[in-house]
Amino acid sequence: MEGNHEKARVRLCYLCNQRRAALKRPKTLEQICRECFYEVFEEEIHQVIVKNQLFKPGERIAIGASGGKDSTVLAYVLSELNRRHNYGLDLFLLSVDEGITGYRDDSLETVKRNELQYGLPLKIVSYKDLYGWTMDEIVKTIGLKNNCTFCGVFRRQALDRGAALLKVDKLVTGHNADDIAETVLLNILRGDIARLSRCTSITTGEDGPIPRCKPFKYTYEKEIVIYPYGYGVKFPWIFFIAYCISLLSVSYW
Ligand SMILES: [Zn+2]
Repeated sequence: MEGNHEKARVRLCYLCNQRRAALKRPKTLEQICRECFYEVFEEEIHQVIVKNQLFKPGERIAIGASGGKDSTVLAYVLSELNRRHNYGLDLFLLSVDEGITGYRDDSLETVKRNELQYGLPLKIVSYKDLYGWTMDEIVKTIGLKNNCTFCGVFRRQALDRGAALLKVDKLVTGHNADDIAETVLLNILRGDIARLSRCTSITTGEDGPIPRCKPFKYTYEKEIVIYPYGYGVKFPWIFFIAYCISLLSVSYW
């Protein structure tokens, strides 16, 4: 009897109905346990990959790795799914070093750790090698204003150059559902109809040299933030603060 009373007080997981619910899932608001969260998080990404036929066996895939939470979780999940479901992919980490002291050098350390942790070969392409200058030098010349435009355009091109050097078939990026929603709003505000129709595609640039795809297209940012803490995926401390802030808005374990 005592045991039944105890069970009645404890909210059980909505999915397995066995273990204690540990969080309210941001995507569905279901109260679920830790184990089920990891399972559905990874399974949904696997389903997105399969349904959209993102990869073919034997393909070489570069993961655009910035050292941030999205690309770090993407590298981990993709290498796990590749092993678990025998995708037969050759995975690589690809990073761009813009030459921004105190910013990129820290995040590149995270990517170098990922290289060792996940056993994925890493290629770093630098602005200095590709273009002959660093972002620090650009800022000295043109000042702080407008340098984001420079950086965005050159970063995109640098990723393409790095992908060509690695001779990969596709480049995957960690853009998530929140990023895509943001891009949609920006394109509506700008009235950019051509980009508006393109920006929600899971694969882009199929007519160009290297197609890009977004396996996290349907993944919520809040879930990417909480995912690593059960697996000890290492992040710079700033992401731990982001994690703590997210705890304030949704109830987790
Ligand atoms: Zn469960």
